[in-house]
Amino acid sequence: MKIIVPVKRVVDYNVKVRVKADQSGVDLANVKMAMNPFCEIAVEEAVRLKEKGIASEIVVVSVGPNTAQEQLRTALALGADRAILIESNDELNSLAVAKLLKAVVDKEQPQLVILGKQAIDSDNNQTGQMLAALTGFAQGTFASKVEVAGDSVNVTREIDGGLQTVALKLPAIVTTDLRLNEPRYASLPNIMKAKKKPLETVTPDGLGVSTASTVKVLKVEAPATRSAGIKVGSVAELVEKLKNEAKVI
Ligand code: AMP
Repeated sequence: MKIIVPVKRVVDYNVKVRVKADQSGVDLANVKMAMNPFCEIAVEEAVRLKEKGIASEIVVVSVGPNTAQEQLRTALALGADRAILIESNDELNSLAVAKLLKAVVDKEQPQLVILGKQAIDSDNNQTGQMLAALTGFAQGTFASKVEVAGDSVNVTREIDGGLQTVALKLPAIVTTDLRLNEPRYASLPNIMKAKKKPLETVTPDGLGVSTASTVKVLKVEAPATRSAGIKVGSVAELVEKLKNEAKVI
């Protein structure tokens, strides 16, 4: 089976982001970028399915600027076979990304699309669900276990207070949760090999998709800074402060 894995270029999770002075967004100048962690888990799952002989080809797709090639090369080094960059310098919302991915799905005809459950930059948690709606494919979100069995895939989902297992008829959409797997690191030989793997670049226009936005970000604000804590000298003082100052007991 062919698997498509959409991967997003985001600010590295170790970076403490700064909001731009005009509150129009986050300052990305000279900031370290990386593959969205949930997308790494999606790539890892696809590679494991290939190692088990279930998947025959893994195609990774990114929508973003030319520099998103870096994340696609990383995915190729982790075991994907080829990559497609849908090049756009615009700030695209989830629906636009889902429409672009739908155009790739129509062309590539995968049996499985594995996405991250959310991108850590915008925390949307929308693209997988929107792609399922646009394609009409079954969807299993927040997957902590994925088992392909014949013409269906069993997905164990992390839900409030427990786990739910659903059987999806292929083709299907799966979105990954944190506990699905632990992604591997790319080895140096595989990083070298990835440079020779095919990477095709297309544009939204070339795919015939309009990416006009229906959502406008009005402003982005940093969280309020917390005032410094204090050290108390004794339990009695702590109780006194909780009672009389914080008034929580
Ligand atoms: P979101 O709905 O934005 O939180 O993202 C959920 C998942 O959709 C990500 O983990 C990716 O798998 C996919 N995705 C979102 N944006 C993009 C993008 N620009 N390019 C490729 N995949 C994306």
